[in-house]
Amino acid sequence: RGMHGETIGYAVGRMAPGDTIETGESTEETKQDWSADSWRSRPAAQMPVYPDAAALADIEQSLARRPHLVPFGEVMALKARLARVAEGEAFLVQGGDCAESFAEFSPEKVRRDEQLLLGMGSMIASAGPSVVHVARAAGQFAKPRSAGIETEAGITLPSYRGDAVNGRAFTLASRAPEAERLIEAYEQARATLTLLGAYRLAERGRDMVFASHEALLLHYEQALTRRDAETGRPWAGSGHMVWIGERTRALGGAHVEYARGIANPIGLKCGPNMDPGELLRLIDLLDPDNEPGRLVLIGRFGADKVASALPPLMRAVRRGERKAIWSIDPMHGNGTVLHGVKTRLLADILSETRTFFEVAAAEGVRPGGIHLEMTGSDVTECLGGQACSGAGELGRRYLSHCDPRLNPPQALEVAVEVAALVGH
Ligand code: PEP
Ligand code: MN
Repeated sequence: RGMHGETIGYAVGRMAPGDTIETGESTEETKQDWSADSWRSRPAAQMPVYPDAAALADIEQSLARRPHLVPFGEVMALKARLARVAEGEAFLVQGGDCAESFAEFSPEKVRRDEQLLLGMGSMIASAGPSVVHVARAAGQFAKPRSAGIETEAGITLPSYRGDAVNGRAFTLASRAPEAERLIEAYEQARATLTLLGAYRLAERGRDMVFASHEALLLHYEQALTRRDAETGRPWAGSGHMVWIGERTRALGGAHVEYARGIANPIGLKCGPNMDPGELLRLIDLLDPDNEPGRLVLIGRFGADKVASALPPLMRAVRRGERKAIWSIDPMHGNGTVLHGVKTRLLADILSETRTFFEVAAAEGVRPGGIHLEMTGSDVTECLGGQACSGAGELGRRYLSHCDPRLNPPQALEVAVEVAALVGH
């Protein structure tokens, strides 16, 4: 089961672009108009505009002919594990780079990052819950940006959007989107998944690390969408879980349209400007069957906003009797600039995490998980804890391609805090 997937939405599969997939699920009336390419008729925020449309089409065909990266059976296994989280019997630990990079890829890096994730997980598991490990890896190559352009020394260029889109070097040539980068992203994702599988085999009995990324580049996602031969259900073959970002979660937008039709567990970032009605409409679209393990709501408000923004959202979801999991991303609402360096304070990250647990307790909701940007490498990108205690240290090892990540001591400090909070 799950070994065979049919390519859909491309001539190489049996279905033609635009064909409809019958999902065989109870939500026929809402899903019957979905296809792997139905996102194309919706406004798509944050997507690159490729200068060479023919090259893009070639790359899409080429990706569609390649094997999917994750089998349907593993996607369903993650959903089953997340269903236990929804029931309050397990806890989701999700984390990794803000943006994976082509240049910094190595087997050792994959190993260090998964070891940190597993280390955090074992600390939290020691407090009681079983832990579901989900890496931000094997596909996390594209970044939404608040500003489409960047200015340095009087020169203005398009923003860097992740290695799957363009280059970080500050030149016009490097910043042009190149479709060929999607192939390199795919190959690195495949190698990462192979390594994760090999490390797991070498350590018999250790837990599976699932892979997740933001489903931002819909050409890539569509090209890797497959249909399970047995159940007929479409799934994103690009990763076990994908999430929708804060900047692309518009109702009626392309990203929500794509995600609603795939069988994978879906994450939905929820920021301080989301209102409860909007959240319920998004849940109706993304999880119409109220299926445990299908949807993870990932709050990312900021330490100063979480206490006011989260309660109305949690209340609406609870009153609607929705089984969606609540997780907290204490990174993306806590960006700050110190001495000209983009950073995040560990104190703010710990504070948003604590408030999340307090609000959940007050609202009668189960705190289901944590979502972090972190790395197994020794970096000084976030400020706080013994490993990076002064702003002067930020320049020492600042390697992130995008947002500042927790280093191992900092991430483990968050895990210790979470262990104390879940233990209550
Ligand atoms: C991210 O997770 O890297 C990200 C961009 O988050 P958000 O969409 O919540 O800002
Ligand atoms: Mn980020």
